[in-house]
Amino acid sequence: MKSYDVCQCGAPLELRERPTPEPAGSEVLLRVLAAGVCHSDLHFWEGVYDLGGGKQLKLTERGITLPLTMGHETVGEVMAFGPDARGVKVGDRRLAYPWIGCGECKVCQRGDEQLCLKPGFLGVFRPGGYSDHLLVPHPRYLVDFGDMPPEQAAPLACSGVTAYGALRKVGGVLQTEPIVIIGAGGLGLMSLAVLKSLGGHGAIVVDIDPAKRAAATEAGALAVVDPNAPDAAQEIAAATNGGAWAVIDFVGSSSTVRLGIDCLTKGGKLIVVGLFGGEITMPTPYIPIKAMTLQGSYTGSLTELKELIDLVRRAPLPLVPVRRRPLAEAYAALTDLKEGKVIGRTVLAPAG
Ligand SMILES: [Zn+2]
Ligand SMILES: [Zn+2]
Repeated sequence: MKSYDVCQCGAPLELRERPTPEPAGSEVLLRVLAAGVCHSDLHFWEGVYDLGGGKQLKLTERGITLPLTMGHETVGEVMAFGPDARGVKVGDRRLAYPWIGCGECKVCQRGDEQLCLKPGFLGVFRPGGYSDHLLVPHPRYLVDFGDMPPEQAAPLACSGVTAYGALRKVGGVLQTEPIVIIGAGGLGLMSLAVLKSLGGHGAIVVDIDPAKRAAATEAGALAVVDPNAPDAAQEIAAATNGGAWAVIDFVGSSSTVRLGIDCLTKGGKLIVVGLFGGEITMPTPYIPIKAMTLQGSYTGSLTELKELIDLVRRAPLPLVPVRRRPLAEAYAALTDLKEGKVIGRTVLAPAG
């Protein structure tokens, strides 16, 4: 098998060839049909999170080892499986749920494997989809996506379930009130699409990039706002009738989290998803006085991915723009994403 791997943090991905694994036990071997290139791959590639104030969190200290085959948004076709793998057959096309936990702890038993303290995520702690083959530890992580094209299904495993998981945290006001979405990259556009499928009232989208604001308008945003405009705060306040019940921040920088808090009405909730990095300080009395909730959201559960696929199969999402590139262009796809040149999503497809 061939894969394009991170051998050194921040250095170009390297082509590595090794014997294609034989699935054992409950393992399933997929031939990769499509592998999404995600913003969080930039963090895994660079190996750090910015903690603000010049501090960094090194991912190698969190159990990530190199070389690493990234890629956690993978669709493949079942090629082979171990003797204990039930419910699969050769030729099945499946989406791999990547946020795999230990399977045994209370968190995993509760169904939140993505929050397990001993994660085994595909493309992070185990080899992922920047490859022509992918080994999945158990068939329960394989989700049937019907007759959707693989390049549309692949991003649902991360940007889709992340958007869905964040929107689910908004609660009942989703259907009745406008929410604010900060960041109109792949995640922001995906959440606009999912919001529509969920029967949401709609969203005001905030982004510094005019091209991304235009894409958000096209995707059905109620209004778009440039956060650098002098009257940005007033524009958001006007569009939310004085303050938002919920803000989802897909950027997660010092300034966007600050803006998110400032946009909230009393009793509102800020859901931070983005890992751009930074830090905030705020007067602690505001927390009770505003009765605000600050909540983080990290991807989504296997159940949420299945709910999302169900939703999409019943009411197909307005398609997020997807660009297919050959696997050999993995590094170029990554650097284009880093430079902000990607509208929507890039999906790698091994030739043949
Ligand atoms: Zn991702
Ligand atoms: Zn666990």
